[in-house]
Amino acid sequence: MAHNYDVGTRAWQPDPTEGWVASEVESKNVQGDKVKLLFRLANGEEKTIETTVAALHDDNNAALPPLMNPAILEASDDLTNLSHLNEPAVLQAIRLRYSQKEIYTYSGIVLIATNPFARVDSLYVPGMVQVYAGKQRSSQAPHLFAIAEEAFADMLRDNKNQTIVVSGESGAGKTVSAKYIMRYFSTRESPDQPGNRAKGIADAMSETEEQILATNPVMEAFGNAKTTRNDNSSRFGKYIEIMFDKKTEIIGARIRTYLLERSRLVFQPLKERNYHVFYQLVAGATEAERQEWGLLPVVHFDYLNQGGSPVIEGWDDKVEFDATRQSLTTIGVSQGKQSQIFALLSALLHLGNVKITATRTDSVLPPTEPSLVKACQMLGVDAGEFAKWTVKKQLITREERIMSNLTQQQAVVVRDSVAKFIYSAVFDWLVENINAGLATEEVSNRATTFIGVLDIYGFEHFIKNSFEQFCINYANEKLQQEFNQHVFKLEQEEYLREEIDWTFIDFSDNQPCIDLIEAKLGVLALLDEESRLPMGSDEQFVTKLHHNFANDKSKYYKKPRFGKSSFTVCHYAIDVTYESDGFIEKNRDTVPDEHMEVLRESSNPFLAEVLEAASVVRDKDALTASNAKAVPTPGRRMGVAANRKPTLGGIFKSSLIELMHTINSTDVHYIRCIKPNESKESWKFEGPMVLSQLRACGVLETVRISCAGYPTRWTYEEFALRYYMLVPSQSWTSAIREMANAILKKALGQGTNRGLDKYQLGLTKIFFRAGMLAFLENLRTTR
Ligand code: ATP
Ligand code: MG
Repeated sequence: MAHNYDVGTRAWQPDPTEGWVASEVESKNVQGDKVKLLFRLANGEEKTIETTVAALHDDNNAALPPLMNPAILEASDDLTNLSHLNEPAVLQAIRLRYSQKEIYTYSGIVLIATNPFARVDSLYVPGMVQVYAGKQRSSQAPHLFAIAEEAFADMLRDNKNQTIVVSGESGAGKTVSAKYIMRYFSTRESPDQPGNRAKGIADAMSETEEQILATNPVMEAFGNAKTTRNDNSSRFGKYIEIMFDKKTEIIGARIRTYLLERSRLVFQPLKERNYHVFYQLVAGATEAERQEWGLLPVVHFDYLNQGGSPVIEGWDDKVEFDATRQSLTTIGVSQGKQSQIFALLSALLHLGNVKITATRTDSVLPPTEPSLVKACQMLGVDAGEFAKWTVKKQLITREERIMSNLTQQQAVVVRDSVAKFIYSAVFDWLVENINAGLATEEVSNRATTFIGVLDIYGFEHFIKNSFEQFCINYANEKLQQEFNQHVFKLEQEEYLREEIDWTFIDFSDNQPCIDLIEAKLGVLALLDEESRLPMGSDEQFVTKLHHNFANDKSKYYKKPRFGKSSFTVCHYAIDVTYESDGFIEKNRDTVPDEHMEVLRESSNPFLAEVLEAASVVRDKDALTASNAKAVPTPGRRMGVAANRKPTLGGIFKSSLIELMHTINSTDVHYIRCIKPNESKESWKFEGPMVLSQLRACGVLETVRISCAGYPTRWTYEEFALRYYMLVPSQSWTSAIREMANAILKKALGQGTNRGLDKYQLGLTKIFFRAGMLAFLENLRTTR
């Protein structure tokens, strides 16, 4: 809506600390074509803006401060009800609601959840589940239960699978939200058996439901760790399908995981920890177990103590250990198996303590090194062989075998690679076992539909970004595309349904950026190519990237001005520069063949079982990867599974393609978690930080998309009720549509056709351009 910026007009001024600050036009001076506006800011300061009369009427004039919404709309529980849909208005709505202890706000179909960093007791009490059960979303305050209910109702109505995507940056509240959603489904009363759960939740839950909830503590023990951002940070992505039968009873579940952070096992940054389970084990094992597994206090294990801060405030690792064991039992892992798992984990801790000494050029590891002896005894492998292949490597050519010695640093890398490999195999084994327990074939066959919950790391951009950020941002690029398409489709479908006059608009599709990453000759393919060369290096990889994509060969790629070792990808959220250092090694993620051989000959039957589980997962992924290719050449598929080691990037890509395939075959619902401050303080709201997350999770992009169309829509009844006073009573009619049209015509000034592009009359609703409602609201109050 064109606006005059008359005295009294409220508008937003940029502010370095708050993001934006409110202001009001105090005086307006027009001289000929020139206009001088004096704004009074909420913080007392004043600001003058000089412009022209013509510029004032330009809706897209970025030099003018964005307009504020009328007070009644400001804290609207759905951002799409805001009349002025600009960045500061969006931020203001979330800020105001948060200050009223309302952590949930809708942005159209999306639920925005702002982390309170405090217990909000009333929000998740058992009775709250029943408040949302069976209700329409619009009839209750915004809540994640409403999203869960909507997914449930849609599943029932359409007999179709559903997905709830929970995203956001580390510490924003994804895992907490995902857990409440799971809890919602397992405690919601079935429509045909009301009342049986009203008394208490736990005793009314089925065994399957209890098992599903018990997967959380287990997965968190093995896959979560304390980081500087979050004391309980998930270091993997997770998609859990909750399966329902014909009667909408939960009968099983299936978990898929993505990209467990392996490096954490052998290295933790300052103030961070290794995976929780190790600290639990060290704190909670019995005296006999301690003896048997050679457990020592945390400070004596290199793998546990690098962060220098092994205690989490408010946590008791011993208590957590009991909970982990209890949950393992619930999901069907026997006491015996549990002991074998913990023995294996203990062996890894000893492996981390193996001292490899340096000579001038080589490294030395005697087979009698005490930690090595202990580790190998528990792993059931030959210490002599293990030691030999840790300090030496061999190159087999057609003619000969060439042995060479490794430096101490290289030998430590080999030792660590074995430990990381075994740990990720244990993790895979756990997931496989959880799945086997949660859904037998019989159950999977009986299941008619599922609701999937995706808890996956949001977009990341740090000062230094590496392979992990690259993979994570690639995943988010894919999810964002799915989201945009979804929002667009819904939007345009509603226009069609309401039969309004509308030309389909384009939106900025991020497919070119996805192509840059995953196409046949994209970044991942070049990374794989380089990783497979015996002498492949990070520098050469970047050189290839520059050669292929720099100098405008790809619009989404930039060669940074400084530094030879980095490259920039223009993501939908922001440009991110990746430091290539370590890409090749992380992508290869291999254990030397000789070490694989040593492990395969292990006398520890559980280790054999674990390695088997891991290879099943890898082969499956390698096969999916080759199937995903457009034209599989004959024989290639066999080749991939049989002798080409899949790379981590390749595995991630294929599991992501599979995930997107699943998600695209479901109806999708979105929850965007926001972390409102860096220091995890309760009820503290830092504007700029929230804004950058709204940008990264695509909320601002969708707001922009909406603005191009008709973001506000009211039913005729709602509209007439609020604005009837804008026309004189003698011209009222009982035909609600005519009445509404009359109000609008009158409001916009008869005789002009200015109104036509400001609103459209649909079959059941009126569609408004951005700004229209604020204009009407203004008329209504100044009448
Ligand atoms: P990561 O990506 O690191 O795994 P995350 O998004 O999963 O992060 P959570 O572990 O879910 O983050 O949340 C971090 C912390 O924030 C929780 O431990 C909890 O203290 C707090 N928190 C999150 N959501 C809520 C909520 N709804 N109510 C109260 N506290 C919450
Ligand atoms: Mg998490």
